[in-house]
Amino acid sequence: MAIFEGLSSRLQETFQRLRGKGKLTEDDVKEALREVRLALLEADVNFKVVKEFVEKIRERAIGQEVLQSLTPGQQVIKIVNDELTELMGGTQSRIAQAAKPPTVVMMVGLQGAGKTTTTGKLANLLKKQNRYPLLVAGDIYRPAAIKQLQVLGEQVKAQVFSMGDKVSPVEIAKNAIEHARMHGFDYVLIDTAGRLHIDDTLMDELKRIKEAVNPDEILLVVDAMTGQDAVNVAETFHQQLGITGTILTKLDGDTRGGAALSIRSVTGTPIKFAGMGEKLDALEPFHPDRMASRILG
Ligand code: GDP
Repeated sequence: MAIFEGLSSRLQETFQRLRGKGKLTEDDVKEALREVRLALLEADVNFKVVKEFVEKIRERAIGQEVLQSLTPGQQVIKIVNDELTELMGGTQSRIAQAAKPPTVVMMVGLQGAGKTTTTGKLANLLKKQNRYPLLVAGDIYRPAAIKQLQVLGEQVKAQVFSMGDKVSPVEIAKNAIEHARMHGFDYVLIDTAGRLHIDDTLMDELKRIKEAVNPDEILLVVDAMTGQDAVNVAETFHQQLGITGTILTKLDGDTRGGAALSIRSVTGTPIKFAGMGEKLDALEPFHPDRMASRILG
């Protein structure tokens, strides 16, 4: 498991030293926090996020209860664990469920982030929960995108709604929802077009789809391997489109984890799922507490 490896070993070293000390002084805590700060920056966590994070821990850790406790090192570690969990959203955030089906989910993101694959994975996950998802081929620009979604649909045994590449994605999305209503689908997952970079044409189209279908979720798929770029992409998508959550992909890869630790705080929206591999069952609900434990070992 490569994610958080560097961060994890650095923090463990720091806390080992704290534990070894028995009683702590304010200076011991300050020294440890300096190391925490460096470790987070090295793990590519957004610097503003690091600053606020360390400040919060300082406030809690320098209190008398901690310094006078019999196991101050342990207490500081608990505080860091709590705050890491909070930083990643506190509790698990589930996918929305519309009061009246179908629940409409727009999948958005840059090309290569894993959007189409993740749409298939999400359908797979929903099916395991006895849901009935409809996949919608809304990326009409990338030549292979429709076919890719159809293949995924076959693999997970979910129906794919396509109108080819001559009809506008707004029309496709509207028709798909009508189709879902008539045939009792309870989730509509709309795969949308990506670009290499954010541009106005992309955003305008996404805004038009959003306006036309009034989605219950707009999930941004971002590649965790791209670190702070992923965070910047998320910030821009959120400002321009308003997302309801993110899905971080490629957490199985060699990523330092900065995106996972920054994105919730920067966008104010939860990480809902984590992509852990190329296979269709490699999508997991994102659990902030388990991630924090993984970091602290
Ligand atoms: P899109 O352009 O955003 O639709 O991207 P694709 O869905 O085509 O995915 C791009 C590449 O990333 C493909 O090779 C996927 O297999 C791969 N991919 C997607 N999610 C993950 C993941 O969680 N882990 C790994 N290792 N690869 C992934």
